[in-house]
Amino acid sequence: MSVDDRCFVIVGAGQAGAWVARTLRAEGFSGRIVMIGDEDHPPYERPPLSKSILSGGTSIAEAVLLARDQASLDQIDLVVGESVVAIDTRRRTVRCASERSVAYDTLFLTMGSRARILPSVGSTPSERVHYIRTIDDALRLKTAMGNCQSMAVVGGGWIGLEVAATARGQGADVTVLEAGPRLCARSVPQQVSEYLARLHQREGVDIRVSVSIESIEVRDDVVVVNSNAGTVRVDQLVIGIGIVPATDLAEAAGIKIADGIMVDDQCRTSDPHIYAAGDVTSHPCAQAGGYRRLESWANAQNQAIVAAKAALGQNVTYGDVPWAWSDQFDVNLQILGHPERGALVVARGDAQHGPCCWLVLGEAGETLGAVSANAPRELRVVRKAIGGSQTLDPAKWADSVCALADVSMISA
Ligand SMILES: Cc1cc2nc3c(=O)[nH]c(=O)nc-3n(C[C@H](O)[C@H](O)[C@H](O)COP(=O)(O)OP(=O)(O)OC[C@H]3O[C@@H](n4cnc5c(N)ncnc54)[C@H](O)[C@@H]3O)c2cc1C
Repeated sequence: MSVDDRCFVIVGAGQAGAWVARTLRAEGFSGRIVMIGDEDHPPYERPPLSKSILSGGTSIAEAVLLARDQASLDQIDLVVGESVVAIDTRRRTVRCASERSVAYDTLFLTMGSRARILPSVGSTPSERVHYIRTIDDALRLKTAMGNCQSMAVVGGGWIGLEVAATARGQGADVTVLEAGPRLCARSVPQQVSEYLARLHQREGVDIRVSVSIESIEVRDDVVVVNSNAGTVRVDQLVIGIGIVPATDLAEAAGIKIADGIMVDDQCRTSDPHIYAAGDVTSHPCAQAGGYRRLESWANAQNQAIVAAKAALGQNVTYGDVPWAWSDQFDVNLQILGHPERGALVVARGDAQHGPCCWLVLGEAGETLGAVSANAPRELRVVRKAIGGSQTLDPAKWADSVCALADVSMISA
């Protein structure tokens, strides 16, 4: 069978799914592509959901990645509002909730992840309680924020902080309740957590850490959150306590899982006819060792491109250095590599008053990553050093009088 006689089926019409489909067509594949997604929307990008869609700066149309018209022009059979409930790897078919069955030659799993549920409020959002994973979640929250004087955000991770910044920017009194001892502890070093806390406090956000929630009462006119950090009464409650990868479908089909769906560096799963990409995968990570699952826009896009090309028989591999960003108030943060694993953290810049970039080095002085706050040039220097044969001199890095070009590299 020639490649073009094959049928490629994509489960999950999100960012990775859209990039698989777009790449297949861009690379000249002319066979059948079916993409099945359980949301009622064509594929869209999620980063604006907690930022510019909430604040009104971006429309839904601007977030769409693969509009229905474009899908139709590209002869991509886009099925939305349909959930895949089973994969039969022997017959090579997927079964949908509507009982529709679709046969595949090659399957791509791009189901992403779901918001982690806070047991005390359950999974069903209401007029006063919100999760934020989908466009529908964001639109519900946006409407609620139109009349919101006060908000509590459970979870001081990236999404919780972005929502807090957006709500504060619209004038609401905002309290962030974080269970851990510091903000974004999973992904950045202590110095960056402290920076984030100061940034939010400067803007008037009430940041509380080491919070243990005792009860949440959702009343008609108010939400009351009781915790060891006191009682907070608010108009709106947002839960941002992380995500869980949507691996259940793959697991039930006998595909190997290790936190996410395990893939090799060509995005192949343990089943030779099935590839996976995006939030749902764990992939080999040379820098961190072992398998890593990433939750980022860049990973979803670039892994999907590799998955599509590999399925077409191209000799490509995925080994990108992790990169993600976040926008909070007037600060653009970028997180590169594995800054959470460092032995030494060195700041360049004045974190109190202006741009700053925290370089993170390992035990042997190797460059592990960096976090920049309005300092993209510094980040580019770190990117070159990660995994390279040169190292960065921490003393010169810390001396912001030295030009970047002079301080950046010393021989390894
Ligand atoms: C609010 C928010 C803000 C973010 N901001 C940033 C940011 O600033 N920077 C950054 O780097 N990253 C950010 N991210 C992360 C980034 O958006 C994700 O990593 C990316 O969307 C992952 O893409 P994906 O295709 O793997 O999953 P998704 O985009 O989640 O797509 C998966 C799709 O599959 C569907 N699906 C699941 N199961 C099934 C099934 N059984 N049948 C059919 N369909 C199914 C899902 O409903 C979903 O539509 C943000 C995420 C969120 C939620």
